[in-house]
Amino acid sequence: MKNIVVIGAGTMGNGIAHVFAMNDYAVSLVDISEAALERALATISKNLDRMVKKEKISEAEKAATLSNITTSTSLDEAAANADLVVEAATENIDLKLKIFKQIDAAAPAKAILATNTSSISITKIAAQTSRPDKVIGMHFMNPVPVMKLIEVIRGYATSDEVTAEIMEMSKNLGKIPTEVNDYPGFIANRILMPMINEAIYSLYESVAGVEEIDTVMKLGMAHPMGPLQLADFIGLDVCLSILNVLHDGFGNPKYAPCPLLVNMVTAGYLGRKTGEGFYKYEKGSKEVVISSRFQKK
Ligand code: NAD
Repeated sequence: MKNIVVIGAGTMGNGIAHVFAMNDYAVSLVDISEAALERALATISKNLDRMVKKEKISEAEKAATLSNITTSTSLDEAAANADLVVEAATENIDLKLKIFKQIDAAAPAKAILATNTSSISITKIAAQTSRPDKVIGMHFMNPVPVMKLIEVIRGYATSDEVTAEIMEMSKNLGKIPTEVNDYPGFIANRILMPMINEAIYSLYESVAGVEEIDTVMKLGMAHPMGPLQLADFIGLDVCLSILNVLHDGFGNPKYAPCPLLVNMVTAGYLGRKTGEGFYKYEKGSKEVVISSRFQKK
């Protein structure tokens, strides 16, 4: 595999393009928004600069990486030569099903189609295509250039050959792939989201405050970030939508999202991206300040 098409140039798409390009693949980065493509190239360049400064790569390697990336707003043109497509567009099921129908029609029959979805069924996405054996989940972690894990998710019809090929390629990217089957939340979010939900329930039921809950998990369990701070980092809307996938997918009330989380999302307190969640975020400041709503009176 040589030609990689990455669909979606947001947070994850730019990181995925960065990692493939650094490993000598030819990357075509596709987005519906020209502005998103420009921002992605600027972000990749800035992240490569940081690696040059830390002497992890040379200036020449930075230039070679950037020269491996082209951008496009036409999925059909980019997909025509693809060996592998990695879709990292917005987490919306209708959008993903539409994109996979389109890629299936545009990409060569031999191409493998991967999705970076956090929670949507790989089997359902694969069923939109004429090649469900060649559809697979490649769940990269944020920030992609730094995080080692790729959760490789086999849909119900994904073939052994395609799984082996993606596992091998993930290793060639310097990552550690871990194979899991396609059930709601896969492994990462099936375990992470109930923990975050339980932390929110503990706050909602006044078992402890934001600081205490995060301190117990940081110092007691050696987590680098407490669950409430992590929820803010991921985005509370994203947490809610993944919990809904778990709740709907298993029909088990243990996954029901905490009413406090639902209220916060409804009111637009989505965490770091909106400036406030369990914590308050000032532009340019790295200080961790608990939101005034959760400060002790
Ligand atoms: P994002 O909102 O930062 O970026 C999504 C990009 O997709 C945007 O630039 C948007 O313009 C583009 N897009 C929308 N429709 C498109 C279309 N039809 N064709 C091409 N591009 C289109 O989102 P993100 O955080 O990068 O998430 C992308 C995917 O990665 C989602 O499936 C998400 O669940 C998954 N994911 C996210 C994270 C994370 O921490 N953000 C972690 C793992 C997986």
